[in-house]
Amino acid sequence: MSVKQNLDELRKSVPERVKIVAVSKFHPSEMIREAYADGQHVFGESRVQELTQKFEELPQDIEWHFIGGLQRNKVKFIAPFVNLIHSMDSERLMLEIEKQGAANNRQIACLLQIHIAEEDTKSGFSMEECRQFLAAGKWRDCSHVQLAGVMGMATFTEDMNQVRKEFRQLKSFFDEIKSDYFSGDDRFKEISMGMSGDYPIAIEEGSTIIRVGSLIFGER
Ligand SMILES: *Cc1c(COP(=O)(O)O)cnc(C)c1O
Repeated sequence: MSVKQNLDELRKSVPERVKIVAVSKFHPSEMIREAYADGQHVFGESRVQELTQKFEELPQDIEWHFIGGLQRNKVKFIAPFVNLIHSMDSERLMLEIEKQGAANNRQIACLLQIHIAEEDTKSGFSMEECRQFLAAGKWRDCSHVQLAGVMGMATFTEDMNQVRKEFRQLKSFFDEIKSDYFSGDDRFKEISMGMSGDYPIAIEEGSTIIRVGSLIFGER
């Protein structure tokens, strides 16, 4: 199957309202061009160096999303052009994004990454940490950071009931903080959840953005 065939197939099962981020990490720019030629203009990368290199060699109207763990000292490399950072998971990282947004005279859209899986990983706020972060209110002073919603990754498991439960928790957490902090803010609207193995469930549970890699580009 070609990238084009994979994309066409994927689109049949994704409603118009859900944005597809084609996760191109570890795949060459040539494959991104194939997807681009088929009308896919939104791509996700998880490493800063790989992203900046691809940004330089590929069409300028590509919308680039950063989806991986982000070190503060690397924010400056993507701040000039990144369209959405899915992985904002600490106040310190937000303050650095604010600084680099200001330096580039742009507002950078970010999602609050929430830890919903059972696995221990370092990435993501717990829901309680995120509540505390929002209550502390420093984000209100960050005029170059635009909070646009939440992102989460489900447990890597065959148990789709577990996966569904976690997506449902993320949707319900989104609803809670939307109502507590962002009810008047139309731009806080995104729920980034769902990957190659679980995107149909994520969409059923209210996802607005799916991040799909191997289903489009093949195994990495
Ligand atoms: C790699 C990655 C994806 C895509 O995973 P696939 O299983 O290849 O679709 C989505 N989200 C994040 C955060 C990733 O790192």
